[in-house]
Amino acid sequence: MQADRSNPVRVVIVGGGTAGWMTAAGLSRLLAPADYQLTLIESDEIGTVGVGEATLPHIRTFNDLLGIDEAQFMRETRATFKLGIEFVGWDRPDDRYIHPFGTFGEPWAGVDFQHHWARATLAGEDVGPLFDYSYAVQAAARAAFEFPNEDPKSIRSTYSYAYHFDAGLYAKFLRHWATTRGVTRIEGKIVDVGRHGGSGHVDRLTLETGAIVEGDLFIDCSGFRALLLGQTMGVAWDDWSKWLPCDRAMAMPCARTEPLVSYTRATAQRGGWTWRIGLQHRTGNGMVFSSAFCREEEARETLMAAVDGAPLGEPRLLRFQAGRRVKGWEGNVVAIGLASGFLEPLESTSIFLIQAAVVDLANLMPTRGGIDRRLADEFNRLYEVHYDRTRDFLVLHYCANRRTGEPLWDYVRTMTLPDSLSHEIALFEASAAAPDYQYGLFSRDSWLAVLVGQGIVPRGYNRLADRLPAEELSSRLQGLRRRIRKNVDAMTDHAEFVASYCPAAVSAAPMESAA
Ligand SMILES: Cc1cc2nc3c(=O)[nH]c(=O)nc-3n(C[C@H](O)[C@H](O)[C@H](O)COP(=O)(O)OP(=O)(O)OC[C@H]3O[C@@H](n4cnc5c(N)ncnc54)[C@H](O)[C@@H]3O)c2cc1C
Repeated sequence: MQADRSNPVRVVIVGGGTAGWMTAAGLSRLLAPADYQLTLIESDEIGTVGVGEATLPHIRTFNDLLGIDEAQFMRETRATFKLGIEFVGWDRPDDRYIHPFGTFGEPWAGVDFQHHWARATLAGEDVGPLFDYSYAVQAAARAAFEFPNEDPKSIRSTYSYAYHFDAGLYAKFLRHWATTRGVTRIEGKIVDVGRHGGSGHVDRLTLETGAIVEGDLFIDCSGFRALLLGQTMGVAWDDWSKWLPCDRAMAMPCARTEPLVSYTRATAQRGGWTWRIGLQHRTGNGMVFSSAFCREEEARETLMAAVDGAPLGEPRLLRFQAGRRVKGWEGNVVAIGLASGFLEPLESTSIFLIQAAVVDLANLMPTRGGIDRRLADEFNRLYEVHYDRTRDFLVLHYCANRRTGEPLWDYVRTMTLPDSLSHEIALFEASAAAPDYQYGLFSRDSWLAVLVGQGIVPRGYNRLADRLPAEELSSRLQGLRRRIRKNVDAMTDHAEFVASYCPAAVSAAPMESAA
């Protein structure tokens, strides 16, 4: 199938939230403009979900792809840096650990670091927690930030970073980026979706104004409504609430407080967990909870007790269900963002899933000749990989807890796990081996952080680690810890770094988006 340059493929994106504008910007950057005509429809009346402030380091690749100037983007979205997520009370109420963006230690004698650490620990040596060997953990714990060093020999090259930003401002930023590069924006509410009598493909959208928008490929970024993939194409929903029972969130921003830490905080609570995300002009807060185990009033009280600054507005309730559509692409409709699925924001995975889908779709983009089913099948295969792996990683945070006597936590500790996750946990317990995916989320170091952080202890390790003489192992471990500490101690305070690199033009603007 060849592209016909006089007759471009008409791609219609439905929705102008983070998903819609990331899709519009990504596709307009990646696809040849002569071959694809991009139109985005959004409704001011319906608005966006208005949450989604914490990201993963992958977003930097996306922004780089667009050629976005980082400091400008951070100023305009009032962003801060993020070195990881601190989990408070997820194993036992008084525990805490940081899931860092970066590696633990370095491989020695060709063997991954955690095996050396496990060997020393199992031998009874006082080598300290695994987290002492992560640069990002130590930097985050000191509320420090500097850019990683590009020299791979430097200990300062062993971490990465992401951002916290105002989700509403990010969508606006991308809207400006995309519309100045040829994406047509239509404001209006879609009231009818027309399908071709023969193929069943979507072929037209009718707006409230009576205007009709025709297209060849439709990208459903309509949020939880899933207007095209769910409501029109009838693609079924795979409900994962038996593993991830949280189904509500209350979001409420508050005034910024000090220190401006360089990590997201997720604190386990009786009926769910609260988040805290420090931006330049305010702090985003929320409580994610399970309606089966926690009443709304209790959630509100828990949230208000957790907030450490003056509230800016009232808590806003959001309802959702964990899961995904059984397919992300059906006929000529592809869903991206909340229209395709949702896993609670515990590890800030939604924006990554949007980015992954945009890149996968760009790689598998249909041409004028029509939709090749094999492209859709491949997209759906990748979509499943992304969602299913993310699900397992999130469930790990819940199932490995020792918060006995609290109904939600008792339930998640005793539920039947997905087989794939049971396997990963058993493998780690037996041999300290953690998943090492070459594609998608999460990295081996992320798994290590959460496995160890949740109190799962390996009973064995890769015996190849024994090739390193025991005395050498001890001195290497001590030396590494010292090197990390010394370098981190010399780092700049995160708030100072932000103030000099990307100060937001306006210092307080409470309610562009609710969280
Ligand atoms: C409580 C909570 C916290 C979250 N935190 C994070 C986080 O920290 N990090 C992260 O990565 N993700 C997070 N997410 C997820 C994140 O918010 C979303 O993935 C992201 O905002 C994308 O949303 P969306 O664009 O798919 O949907 P929306 O923002 O809901 O956008 C839907 C769009 O479709 C349009 N639309 C719908 N129907 C019609 C119609 N009939 N006609 C015209 N237009 C229509 C709407 O106007 C809107 O523009 C969180 C989600 C929740 C619920």
